[in-house]
Amino acid sequence: MGRAFGQFQYPTPPLGNYASGFPDDLAFEEWLARLEDLAEAHERLQDGEHVSGPAADTYRHRVAASAKFAGRVLRTTREAHTLLTNPELQIFPGKGMTCVLDQARAACRLRADERSNRRTPELDDCKPSCVNIARTDRDIEFLRAHVNNLQDLVEDPLAPPMRHAREQHELTRLQRIITNHQEHRP
Ligand code: SF4
Repeated sequence: MGRAFGQFQYPTPPLGNYASGFPDDLAFEEWLARLEDLAEAHERLQDGEHVSGPAADTYRHRVAASAKFAGRVLRTTREAHTLLTNPELQIFPGKGMTCVLDQARAACRLRADERSNRRTPELDDCKPSCVNIARTDRDIEFLRAHVNNLQDLVEDPLAPPMRHAREQHELTRLQRIITNHQEHRP
């Protein structure tokens, strides 16, 4: 017998729960969160969201393909883990970027999952040169806010030269990403 969660359903584990760290529940919660993220991403694409970056096409393809997983009933933890490794579901929203993970081409060190053989990206250590990066309009909004903050810092006349140079470099890099995103908007 399964437990309903919105349009999804997953089985009630015999013992434990999310709060107590019961591993089964963690896998199911992660699965549901992943599907919710993808459903939102699908909706934004339908509404005309623009996506840029080297993995933009793969992002669009995976988000479209993910619709077929909605409503899937999971009966075991193994099934949840297996589905979480499905290549079509490897999309991880980060801060100002979205990782469309292809493990073989990842520029960061992937993190091993203690509960399964899954490997997930280190979003906090994302490398700007990675070919798995896609940028949605939502990511660009995040970068714009960051650019505004950086602009204030760069204009600080009291900033030490080294810090000023570092911040100026980062500011230029982010501005280029934003410009590139806008220039390729259909
Ligand atoms: S470097 Fe960034 S985009 Fe590349 S795999 Fe790691 S987190 Fe994903």
